[in-house]
Amino acid sequence: MSPITPTAVSRMSIVRTVAELRTALAPARRAGVEIGLVPTMGALHDGHLSLIRHAAERCGLVVVSLFVNPAQFNAGSDLERYPRRERDDAALAAAAGADVLFAPSVEEVYPPGFATSVEVIGLTDRLEGAARGSEHFRGVTTVVTKLLCMAMPDVAYFGQKDAQQLLVIRRLVEDLNLPVRIEARPTVREPDGLAMSSRNVLLDTDQRSRALALSEALDSAARLAAGGERSAEALLAAASDTMRASGVVPDYVALVEPDTLEPIDRLSGDALLAIAARIDDVRLIDNAILRPGRAGSASRPSQPLPGETITTCNA
Ligand code: AMP
Repeated sequence: MSPITPTAVSRMSIVRTVAELRTALAPARRAGVEIGLVPTMGALHDGHLSLIRHAAERCGLVVVSLFVNPAQFNAGSDLERYPRRERDDAALAAAAGADVLFAPSVEEVYPPGFATSVEVIGLTDRLEGAARGSEHFRGVTTVVTKLLCMAMPDVAYFGQKDAQQLLVIRRLVEDLNLPVRIEARPTVREPDGLAMSSRNVLLDTDQRSRALALSEALDSAARLAAGGERSAEALLAAASDTMRASGVVPDYVALVEPDTLEPIDRLSGDALLAIAARIDDVRLIDNAILRPGRAGSASRPSQPLPGETITTCNA
């Protein structure tokens, strides 16, 4: 990984240790300036940048963390292939309004002797937890708890793109009485609908066009719901069929309660349609809120309005 040059990001400080981070934040904290945290694994795209820009509009100081967390990758998964572009990320984060980039080493986050984990029970059994194993969310919840303790932000921003993760983080913040507000932001998409993801850069041209099947699957179910279909079976079949028509085999397609992730049989209120699929060796996820009773053409699955804080599952 190439080091970040100070010239690339003159206004933003780059810190690599918890001690440096706390020193960098101390004056703002003493002055009562609101501190916002945007946790990321880097390879920043417009989805991340929308979180950073939003934070910068609202907070006096914005910290962006850049850490590819090995603990949340399953053995044999794509940890090694995960894109790392620290120099570009620093420039992008600075341009989007970050004041501090926290880019710790693995040893800084998990020093020798590290033996603690944070686990949210129940919610993590489903969807991504079922597909990726319990260690995935244990890795996420442990590192997010650590980042929140390291930076002690007033508010932390997360994307609705990772709907279950957002719900799990809200749960852990509430359960552990962590003094931080969690705010969610809508999924940012490419013009053709593909949800932005750091993993998209791993797709070749053919894979990229097949990946579009995920957002098309959400669209087809949303259209059906908008047209009055309430049966989960029919909505799920529409999403699955759309994916299979593009040669994409779903890892899962699930229609669940937004707060509990319990599967639902019929659409009677907001429901989370969550999907995951492998495009060869690149695993992608996407989701949308389906809302009943909205007759007419739903060309895009429902998303919260800009600035809307999601209080249910993400949403
Ligand atoms: P990651 O770097 O993938 O761990 O993502 C860092 C944060 O950015 C998480 O809160 C994600 O939910 C969020 N994020 C990732 N992709 C998007 C997107 N397309 N739109 C909005 N937020 C996103």
